[in-house]
Amino acid sequence: MTSSTTAPAPAPSGKRVLLAKPRGYCAGVDRAVQTVEHALDHYGAPVYVRKQIVHNLHVVRALEARGAIFVEENSEVPEGSIVVFSAHGVAPEVHEQAAERGLKAIDATCPLVTKVHHEVRRFAKDDFDILLIGHEGHEEVVGTSGEAPDNITIVDGPEGVGHVEVRDPERVVWLSQTTLSVDETMQTVDALRERFPLLQSPPSDDICYATQNRQAAVKTIAPRVDLFLVVGSGNSSNSVRMVEVAAAAGAKAAYLVENAGAIDETWLDGVSIVGLSSGASVPEILVHEVTDWLAQRGYGDVEEVSHTEERLAFALPQELRREMRTKS
Ligand code: SF4
Repeated sequence: MTSSTTAPAPAPSGKRVLLAKPRGYCAGVDRAVQTVEHALDHYGAPVYVRKQIVHNLHVVRALEARGAIFVEENSEVPEGSIVVFSAHGVAPEVHEQAAERGLKAIDATCPLVTKVHHEVRRFAKDDFDILLIGHEGHEEVVGTSGEAPDNITIVDGPEGVGHVEVRDPERVVWLSQTTLSVDETMQTVDALRERFPLLQSPPSDDICYATQNRQAAVKTIAPRVDLFLVVGSGNSSNSVRMVEVAAAAGAKAAYLVENAGAIDETWLDGVSIVGLSSGASVPEILVHEVTDWLAQRGYGDVEEVSHTEERLAFALPQELRREMRTKS
């Protein structure tokens, strides 16, 4: 692989890959995966995990192989066991259920999701109607809504705006899921503001730095490519949004692929330049497998195009750090 500053001249065939940076793991995913790994090291298997710890099958399978058991609800976890809550966050009632069952809960909710939960509690306390822009049924939206179900209305994109009802148009705020398309979210906000001119904005961006950076890196490359591949799982919101962003930014075709095995050879027909990136829950090994697959088909010239450097890292959950300290 070469960097954008040292890239060799394109191969004679003109076939090459533009690899977006940043891509792959964000700080919240890295922390969540490490939380399960450290819990397994510290307590031994099994460690129960409520929901997919992050939305990536490869990661889930790898943790299962080490002794993690993934469940949908606390009721499936034997009383007194250890349970890790996923990066997407949970409603307060999930913590209450865990306590009732005597579970030892470790909360791997991304701190940037927790920040949105705090915002919900603050605006609900001031009796605002909260218009939460996000995808109905997504785990993060379910968890965030659970902080103040009576105050929240979910707005699933610009087309949902017409149905929104509020009690007092002078006390309305919009918040959002962390992994949305930046552009589409602003369209939704514009439409909401037409209906509610006094609509307040979140105190700071809810769409997280990783989502924004990955979309911006995709936009830089997409106009130059014939085909854009995003490595990620179908239930990964930020990965799906990256495909949409690539298509909207000018890629002639854009696809989400779980791994190299999911790429259709015919997509390469007539393609000179392939754009490549990966969602925030995708380990880099899956990207390497795709670059290897492409190299075997003449796309061995890879240029990494950097939009920005990311250095953010989050500490492990406090409850786990405390346990690790006391037993070390
Ligand atoms: Fe946190 Fe953003 Fe990563 Fe989600 S995508 S885990 S909100 S940093």
